Parts: sequence; C-alpha cells; structure tokens
Amino acid sequence: MSTVLVINSGSSSLKYQLIDTDTEQVLGKGLIERIGQRTGSSSHSTPEGEHLTERAMRDHPSAFRAMIDAFRLHGPALDDGTPAALAHRVVQGGARFSGPARIDDRVLQDIDELSALAPLHNPPALAGIGAALEAFPGIPQVAVFDTAFHVTLPPEAFTYAIDKDLAARHRVRRYGAHGTSHKYVSRRAAEFLGVDVDTAKVIVLHLGNGASACAVDGGRSIDTSMGMTPLEGLVMGTRSGDIDPAVLLHLSRRADLSIDDLDELLNRRSGLLGLSGSADLRDVVSRADSGDADAQLAIDVYLHRLRHYLGAYLAQLGGADAIAFTAGVGENSPRIRAGAVATLGFAGVQLDEVRNSSPERGERIISAEGSRVAVLVIPTNEELEIARQSVELLGT
Ligand code: AMP
Repeated sequence: MSTVLVINSGSSSLKYQLIDTDTEQVLGKGLIERIGQRTGSSSHSTPEGEHLTERAMRDHPSAFRAMIDAFRLHGPALDDGTPAALAHRVVQGGARFSGPARIDDRVLQDIDELSALAPLHNPPALAGIGAALEAFPGIPQVAVFDTAFHVTLPPEAFTYAIDKDLAARHRVRRYGAHGTSHKYVSRRAAEFLGVDVDTAKVIVLHLGNGASACAVDGGRSIDTSMGMTPLEGLVMGTRSGDIDPAVLLHLSRRADLSIDDLDELLNRRSGLLGLSGSADLRDVVSRADSGDADAQLAIDVYLHRLRHYLGAYLAQLGGADAIAFTAGVGENSPRIRAGAVATLGFAGVQLDEVRNSSPERGERIISAEGSRVAVLVIPTNEELEIARQSVELLGT
C-alpha cells in the first residue's frame, strides 16, 4: 500500500488527508465546512499551495464529490491505486472495538447501534462512510475508533458508582475519547526519551478545543478524564468538564431548564466560553492580561482542574517518566504548561523556563536537566496514527 485517504466526518464538516504511508508525507488535505447550510466553504492544500472555494454543499455525498473534484483540479490525482484505502475516524466504538475494523455491513451496523452513546458524533461519521463507499467502491475502508485505546481501562477506572443493573442495561460506563491522539503521543514520548514503550509511564495532556488527560502505563491507557461522553473531565473551550451532577438537578428544578437546555449549557455554553465569554484560550489570555477578572478566573479554573488530574494520574501510575503536552493549547501555550506543573516540584517535575517559552516547534523537551520526570511537547498527529493503524490492519 502506498496511500491512505483519512476521513474525519463531522455533522457539518469533512476533513481529509491523503497520506503516503511509505514516507508518511501528506500529499493533499482539505476541509469542507458548513455542509447542509446555505453557504459553504472549502480549502484544499497540496505541498504547492492552498486553494479556497465558496460553494454550498447539500449533504455528505456532495461534500465527497467536491473533495474528489478538488483532487482532480489541484492534485494529486486519485487514480492508479490512489488511495489504496480509506480510513475513517469514528468517535464511539463502545466496548466492542478495541482496534481498527475493516468496514463491512456488520461493522456499519455496530457503529449505527453505538450512535445511542454518541448521538452527535457517530451519525455524521456514518454519513461520511456511506458517501465514501459510494464514491470509492471496491477500495478497502477502515474505521478507527477514538475509544479503542481506552479499552484497556480496568473496571475500577471505567465503572461509575451507580446502580449496577441500570448501568449495565444502558451501557453506562466510561469509554474515554481522544484515544488516537493519546496513543500516538504516549508512544512518541517514550521513543523521544529512548524509553521502552512497554514499560514507560506517560501522562498525556491533550489540550485543544476539546481536552482530556490520559494515564498510560506501558502503552496501555489505565485512566482517562473523558467519560461515557467527551463531556467529563477537564475544562474545555465550550464544555464544562467535571461538575457535581446535583447541579443539573438543581438547575432543572430551580431554573426550569429542560434536558435539551442542560445539554446545550454543558456542551456549548460552558468551559472557557461560559466563564469568560470566549472559547479561544488566546483571547482569554489577552483579556486576562488587560485586567479582565473573569478571564483570569477562567484560566485559574482551567489550571486548577489540570493540576487535579495530573496529581491523580501521578498517584494512579505511581509516578511517571514523562508528562506530554499536545494539541492547540498544549503545543502553543507556555503559560498553561508552566501553570499545570508549577506545584509538582515535590514529585520530581522541574520545568526549564527558557525551553518552555522558546518559539521552537516540533517534538521537544521543556523540563530542566535533572528533572526526574521529563516534560515534553509532542505535536499530535491523529491522521497519521489513523493511516498507520489502517496499514497495520490491512497488512500491506
Ligand atoms: P485544537 O482543538 O487542538 O485545534 O486547539 C484549538 C485551541 O488551541 C484554540 O481554541 C485555542 O484556544 C488554542 N490555541 C492555539 N494557539 C494557541 C496559543 N498560541 N496560545 C494559547 N492557546 C492557543
């Protein structure tokens, strides 16, 4: 096999990357946005340049046709065995998928059935897969699940302390998310340090618009901050993360909020946005710097929650070889990285301020010489990990 077309299909967007699996280079990639709305936009880039188009896209099959058009117009050509396979990102694989799966009717049925656990995420992934099967008949297609890396969570980490029969009946347990990123980053962290992946203890902090922490012991996820859905855990751009469930009861009774209102509140109007008015940490930081008390509190709450999980995972793992920061905030914000580990000197974590604030990009170490726990920045690459897993599954 030489190329995999990685597809990330959201409810109103389609992201794609054509990856050469021998060289691991991106040959072409793009983003189609506002699918199903009256106006749409898309971008397609190749190593030669970026092409932007404004065009409404009725549904996912039209978006697929637009993607194929973009490859035809701007390259690289999709023919002669290109792509050799398609790989789809799917958020929820439940307890059923512990690794990538070649798509067939049974797998499609399972993903559909798991939509009950991820109503916002699995249906658009299925729409993307359906469009892809139509557009690329006869080419092998693979589903790679965000939850698969967390299938190794022990029962004490994935069980909620509620009525066990009710939980079993409705499959209520923690599944985690961001698994593809946690797997990629934890492995790269061990390789970067020259430590055996099978024994390395790594805490990964994936801090993007969505955010989650993961404790990885010898390449296995043993704890993670997202739960049955990607709402639990850290403070995120628009999601609350952890909250006393009784707050929902209180708001339902006192503020007359419906289930849908609460869903909207916790998923779309909370987190940094709810606290400060902006979901983008760059805005929040610049506002805090100009004296905005709400913005400062938002950063303080964000960091407080991060330290909470770092402490917990140091305890669960019994210490760590590395703490690895990744995604938009983790890769770009020295202030958040410094704030997250500031109190961890007692556990052998010592940051090097100069390394941490260096504008350097790429994989790097930001802890001081002699720090017992290495602190790293590892840019995540979910698309590459998805392509690698597909190649491994298809065995070419
Ligand atoms: P992601 O979801 O991984 O693309 O991350 C997106 C988030 O990264 C944005 O919402 C920003 O808040 C954050 N981000 C990107 N660059 C920076 C930066 N230089 N400083 C702080 N936050 C950043």
